[in-house]
Amino acid sequence: MRDDNPNSWEARADAHSFYGFTDLPSIEERGTVVLTHGEGPYVVDVHGRRYLDANSGLWNMVAGFDHKGMAAAAKAQYDRFPGYHAFFGRMSDQTVMLSEKLIDVSPFERGKVFYTNSGSEANDTLVKMLWFLGRSEGKPERRKILTRKNGYHGVTAVSASMTGKPYNEVFGLPLDGFIHLTCPHYWREGRDGETEAEFTARMGAELEDVIAREGADTIAAFVAEPVMGAGGVIPPSKGYFQTIAPILKKHGIPLVADEVITGFGRTGFDWGCQAYDFMPDAIISSKNLTAGYFPMGAVILGAELTDRMQAAANAIEEFPHGFTASGHPVGCAIALKAIEVIMDGSDGAAPLIDNVRAITPKFEAEMTRLAQHPHIGEARGIGLMGALEAVKDKATKTPFDGSLSVSERIANTCTDHGLICRPLGQAVVLCPAFIMTDPQMDEMFQKLEAALNKVFEEVV
Ligand SMILES: *Cc1c(COP(=O)(O)O)cnc(C)c1O
Repeated sequence: MRDDNPNSWEARADAHSFYGFTDLPSIEERGTVVLTHGEGPYVVDVHGRRYLDANSGLWNMVAGFDHKGMAAAAKAQYDRFPGYHAFFGRMSDQTVMLSEKLIDVSPFERGKVFYTNSGSEANDTLVKMLWFLGRSEGKPERRKILTRKNGYHGVTAVSASMTGKPYNEVFGLPLDGFIHLTCPHYWREGRDGETEAEFTARMGAELEDVIAREGADTIAAFVAEPVMGAGGVIPPSKGYFQTIAPILKKHGIPLVADEVITGFGRTGFDWGCQAYDFMPDAIISSKNLTAGYFPMGAVILGAELTDRMQAAANAIEEFPHGFTASGHPVGCAIALKAIEVIMDGSDGAAPLIDNVRAITPKFEAEMTRLAQHPHIGEARGIGLMGALEAVKDKATKTPFDGSLSVSERIANTCTDHGLICRPLGQAVVLCPAFIMTDPQMDEMFQKLEAALNKVFEEVV
């Protein structure tokens, strides 16, 4: 398995590259998978092994790894104008066009866009906008940010503070003023005898309590993923957003949808907020925004926040914020192409979102089938995002002992079988590319089922 020759790719990866979010004992035992290229939804490693990537890279390579139209759009823009900034009153034509397009496809009637290089920076930018707004509007104490446990919003100091995961304790995070509410996961968080409707009502009551305790005037925003992604693919309990949105509105607290994963079709809807039928005040976008072909994020403000931000900037004649590569012309050209490929169809091909809708029933049926397994506690998800949660005891929902690393073992066994999928807590996450075909879907579930059977045999 692991090639310890000092000239091997595995050894060279170890020697000079840090790994992020990587189980180091697995690397020690198995070595890094060093990849050279991709074909459709498959990736190929330096040894020529092919893997079906059931996670679309990191949720984002939804058009596959060799989309000719995407690559051609990038090349054309590199030939035309390979880089520029968006400072000092200048901006590329591609940036102008992308903002028009984003507002057009957004749920907002009117709005404005600010560009970043990542989802983390987009969340950071949003928070700085809200802090700027508070001070400008004579409410400098309006700084606290509400998010939920298991919510994932990124890794910069501010976005990691928004992220509701215990691993951030190793950094001494969250910063003060970042408050994590209960994760709206009925299966795991629901109390004995509590109905889903009662659970959702309790989530609303908790929010009311937190607002009363902290003071509505001290809260800058509530930020939530429509479906939690990196927290383990957790759809909200039924009626969740219908319960919390009016509470936030009553207290004048903006509701921000972090649509980095759910934006552009992942749920089968254009936006996750449409899948769950609520209207946010702002949207955070990244990942699918460029179908993974360029690092880019965006803060999309709806009409009201746009007007308030504009007034605040006008008052000091500037919004003193921006990244060197904000609104990069190549990134914007790629994003324009990605949106076309996903939502409108391009080069004679149907929109990829049509395929998402077409293959979702099979995806759901296969997930439901695997959920019959005695050691799968829950299959959950929406559209082409799903998770299977491993449990030691299905009736009591008791997880396996952490030392067994069950989900790592499942993911590693899948890798041995030519399938890449991601362990997350005790769950395994599936979020295939939007281009998946029926036979590829069969291959994905056959390989996953074989791995599940093998690992559960070993650990039980
Ligand atoms: C991935 C992700 C982010 C962070 O994006 P990066 O580009 O990795 O910084 C933020 N929010 C959500 C919901 C994400 O899934």
